[in-house]
Amino acid sequence: MKKLMVGNWKMNKNGKEAQQFTEEFNSKFTDKRDAWIASQALFVKLIINSGIKAGIQNCSEHVNGAYTGEVSPRSFKEMGGHFVILGHSERRQYFGETSKGLNAKIRTALAEGLEVIYCVGETLAEREAGQTLSLIEDQLHQGLNDQSLANATNLIVAYEPVWAIGTGKTASPAQAQEVHAHIRNVLKAKFPAFGDKTRILYGGSVNPANVEELLAQKDIDGGLVGGASLKPADFLALCGDR
Ligand code: PEP
Repeated sequence: MKKLMVGNWKMNKNGKEAQQFTEEFNSKFTDKRDAWIASQALFVKLIINSGIKAGIQNCSEHVNGAYTGEVSPRSFKEMGGHFVILGHSERRQYFGETSKGLNAKIRTALAEGLEVIYCVGETLAEREAGQTLSLIEDQLHQGLNDQSLANATNLIVAYEPVWAIGTGKTASPAQAQEVHAHIRNVLKAKFPAFGDKTRILYGGSVNPANVEELLAQKDIDGGLVGGASLKPADFLALCGDR
């Protein structure tokens, strides 16, 4: 399977900048790797119209109803949306999201036919306390806890050490591989029908200089990228188009 690079633009870029990005990116992209982009929900139509697979960075656990301010995964799918990022560490940190609470969002989004990128990862204090692997296992079991997920082939897991997000500090390829191998084993045991094929992305200060050695690791199937997805040239380099 091709490596997958996902840009997480967070709450950056206005409509004009998003348009310019898609035009420049598309003029040079050669499809060596899969490339998806999660923009602000306001601009997803623009991404969809450009032909790039579009994502949102959160969604409701409900498909419609009296939930003021929420974004429906059903409506997003209907308008041509492709994926949703759930459980990003910024959502956990600033909006109080928990793995247990995310379970309902994950189930709804998968049931609506979206690909779900479920983010897990430890803080620096948790790593230093030697809790990384057990904590990630808990995040996987809690977020993915339900029989209805037994056929969740649209599931993708992103390992994003919190201490490496937006900090310029990257996990070494060996550190990342150790965690990815553990995630692979947990997924295989939990979902025997497809767990060995679930894509596992690495996120945390991925950039054109470090991407190839990360992607060379056996269990790293791609990247979830913040800062380096904002400039077309950088994101193209991550997609193998230098
Ligand atoms: C992210 O926000 O998912 C991320 C990995 O950010 P950055 O690449 O900037 O560290």
